[in-house]
Amino acid sequence: MKRLLPREGEALRRYAERLEALHLITRAILAASSPEDVARGALYHVRQLLHCRRASVVIFDPEAKEASILAVSAEGEAELKEGLRFPLEYFCPPGRSLEEVEVTMVEDIEGCGAPSPLLEGLRREGVRSFLSVSLLSEGKVIGALNLGRARRGRFSEEDVETVREVAALLSLAIEQARLREQLRGYASQLEDKVSEQTAELKRVNAELEAFVYSISHDLRAPLRAIQVMAQALLEEGGGKRELVERMAAAAERMDRLIADLLAYSRLSRAPITLGPVDLRRVVEEALDNLQVEVQERGAQIQVEGPLPKVRGHHSTLVQVVSNLLSNGIKFVPPGTRPEVRVWASREGERVRLFVQDNGIGIPKKEHKRIFEIFERLHSVETYPGTGMGLAIVRRGVQKMGGKVGVESAPGRGSRFWVELQKL
Ligand code: ADP
Repeated sequence: MKRLLPREGEALRRYAERLEALHLITRAILAASSPEDVARGALYHVRQLLHCRRASVVIFDPEAKEASILAVSAEGEAELKEGLRFPLEYFCPPGRSLEEVEVTMVEDIEGCGAPSPLLEGLRREGVRSFLSVSLLSEGKVIGALNLGRARRGRFSEEDVETVREVAALLSLAIEQARLREQLRGYASQLEDKVSEQTAELKRVNAELEAFVYSISHDLRAPLRAIQVMAQALLEEGGGKRELVERMAAAAERMDRLIADLLAYSRLSRAPITLGPVDLRRVVEEALDNLQVEVQERGAQIQVEGPLPKVRGHHSTLVQVVSNLLSNGIKFVPPGTRPEVRVWASREGERVRLFVQDNGIGIPKKEHKRIFEIFERLHSVETYPGTGMGLAIVRRGVQKMGGKVGVESAPGRGSRFWVELQKL
């Protein structure tokens, strides 16, 4: 058996020790999940291996011009603890960039440049010499692995080599742990999104169910009436003419309900492109549509002040304003001449268009309900209508990214408003 010289034996022993430590460090790094745990896992072993008083990993944040201690392993109590932050310049020699210096060795911190809280802290912890090796990721310095010893003097080349190897391992592992954390963040964001969308889907489904229920209900009423009257006709009871007239009226009502439903459904489904819309032109066109109604009821419509341009969709907005004006003219006490005022106001980036009437008003508790499909507060005999007008208003405004609301009380008229983005 070949006998080893004492010096060779010592070198081999150190080599084996270093390998063992590197093996332990690799295992610790692989077991860790967060960047902190990765660093903690490595520091203890590297400190033991190089007989140091303290070992730390510092992470750089070039944007904030800060460095923060990610993890520390120290013999005894460490004064410079995890989470502590320093100006980045403490880690960069004056006039040089972080990328230029990979290894910094200080044999005696007493003579080491300007005093700083960092050096003071190290000194108080009993550190006399130190070694700092950059952590690199894709050519960028992301931090440093630092070792501090209680005695003055150089770190051997072998020591420096070991620290560089650990630093390379650590850089990789920290980057990976960061990526993993980021991925976890994305995954949970995705989960939030999915559950948000599921909730939205449930809400839409519930709305759809209510919608189908109320449509079926409302559409069956005139149909029933037609059936009953047809039966009466067959049995030749009552005045034929009156029955046929009532059948025609029921059929007409059904036609109106279906036409409004179609308008609503078209509005819901068709995509619209938003662009500049002139409110003045919108109001003029809506008034044109309502000429007959306005004349029949002798309504007075007053459009006040300048009407600005907004971001919206012209024909949708004409439909919205027509419905509001038509309601304003319609819902007045018998014998009252309808008076409707239209004006706009600016509020920051938004424009509000107001339509105010001198009508019967609406109790506060109904302010929400009236915007639902087929919801009406009166019988068709008192005030004709299908209960779709405001549902169309709400859906149209929503599609233009706006809001709609009402201020009203019984007997005091109503003031409806539509809020859209200013152009
Ligand atoms: P319709 O006008 O066909 O009844 P809407 O959806 O337009 O349907 O309105 C729903 C209900 O809200 C109306 O039936 C009425 O009770 C109430 N309403 C709407 N506009 C006004 C208004 N300007 N003044 C008083 N009540 C109103």
